[in-house]
Amino acid sequence: MTQQLEPMPTDWRRALAVVAHPDDLEYGCAAAVAGWTDEGREVAYLLVNRGEAGIDTIAPSACAPLREREQRASAEAVGVSSVEFLDHRDGVIEYGTALRRDIAAAVRRHRPELLITLNHRDTWGAVAWNTPDHRAVGRATLDAAGDAGNRWIFPELGLEPWDGVRWVAVAGTDRPTHAVDATPGFERSVRSLLAHRTYIEVLTDEDPEAYCRTFLAGTTGAAAERFGGRPAVAFEVFPR
Ligand SMILES: [Zn+2]
Repeated sequence: MTQQLEPMPTDWRRALAVVAHPDDLEYGCAAAVAGWTDEGREVAYLLVNRGEAGIDTIAPSACAPLREREQRASAEAVGVSSVEFLDHRDGVIEYGTALRRDIAAAVRRHRPELLITLNHRDTWGAVAWNTPDHRAVGRATLDAAGDAGNRWIFPELGLEPWDGVRWVAVAGTDRPTHAVDATPGFERSVRSLLAHRTYIEVLTDEDPEAYCRTFLAGTTGAAAERFGGRPAVAFEVFPR
């Protein structure tokens, strides 16, 4: 029998999700977020840029505000009202202290127990090469959990340290350890992904809603065999 995934921890109040681009959370994580906000938990989003280099036919100056709007709408669909953007450039985000500092600052301000990010490894499922932005932001988020708690790291931020991050959960991983039932939040996760309409209409000729539904049913369905047959959002959890 396939090794079953553990249920995600539930003894927390606040989560902060840190990803590189608009849509990174909607391609897999949003169903979990919808379930959590239903339970009265606070979830905030931090986007490292506005995905301004993501649409070939739209110049970055026009694309950035459009994708920011779509990201805010997609967050709202799953009960998230706090959405912040950093200004690291799309496509060329650099892993380093500047990125770690920006993420640590957000952790100190939001004081989450759960930090969420996207696949930080070189590949997706050992098949497709991951993007440099995802690798940089995933790794910097894992690192920033510790940075935020050490008052002697980034003291120039002038923020009280927060050493209360208990888990960093990585979505889109090929080494999942935990999962959340996707059923209660599934319909809203479809709405949430669909809110990235401009991006999706460029990406596929398929009907946008059918595309979102099929994609999310596929990923949550794939996790079901390791979660008692329930469609699920899987995470690789690093406890701290
Ligand atoms: Zn991305």
